[in-house]
Amino acid sequence: MRKPTFSPTKINTYLLCRVKYHWAYLTPYGRWMRRPNPAFTFGANLHRALEYFHNAGGAEQLSPEAFHQAFERLWRDAGFETAQQSEQFKQAGLELAQRYYQTHAEQPPEAAVLFTERALRRDMGRYILTGRIDRVDEHPDGALEIIDYKSGRADVSEAQVRNDLALHCYALLLQEHYPDRPLRIALYALRANKKVAVEVSPESLDEFRQMLNQLVGQILDEDWEILTPRWIDPCAACEFLNLCVSKLGLAKDASQ
Ligand code: SF4
Repeated sequence: MRKPTFSPTKINTYLLCRVKYHWAYLTPYGRWMRRPNPAFTFGANLHRALEYFHNAGGAEQLSPEAFHQAFERLWRDAGFETAQQSEQFKQAGLELAQRYYQTHAEQPPEAAVLFTERALRRDMGRYILTGRIDRVDEHPDGALEIIDYKSGRADVSEAQVRNDLALHCYALLLQEHYPDRPLRIALYALRANKKVAVEVSPESLDEFRQMLNQLVGQILDEDWEILTPRWIDPCAACEFLNLCVSKLGLAKDASQ
């Protein structure tokens, strides 16, 4: 029998709301209601541009004009509601990308890019852990740094990096391929053009692995017949709100 797969997005959905996890991953509604939204599409466009930037050799090899042209060429409209909305997002994205370019031109990083935008998987026993890593840098001391771009965040703190479930999942994925390398995890808030990185010790990663195995075990052993949604803040913007109200009797918050 094929083992179930778990990505950080899937696990975070469960942590946010188990009823949402049920709709999204255990019923056909998840597929029917999955549609690109402007914020997601904006992030995907930026990721594509930054991937191109690094694969082309960064600011040392690529002129600002060539990067600008590539940004325009790589931009996709699909996922935006109107052409005008796409254009607004494109201008905002171009500004972020140009600032990113400028920072790399002014302070050439010591680390070399090992790879960008790579999907990895790891057999965790009862399940397969999967994830797509935005970028991994290799530092002169041999340490590998996993970088996750955040296109919507205005800032990022060390605590947010330390508590980021997706980054720790990526560290587990990378650890399998580079078991002897020291690992760092980092969030790069593109709006603030700010990156915060912290080290992940083998001990703390092992602790995370045990916690993750317990959590995924709990998801796999859940009784999905019992679904009693309660109103939480994310309900207001949830794509499954109507289903929760009509099929599971969720009472809308009076203040909404
Ligand atoms: S509407 Fe609320 S309770 Fe229902 S799935 Fe969404 S977040 Fe969960």
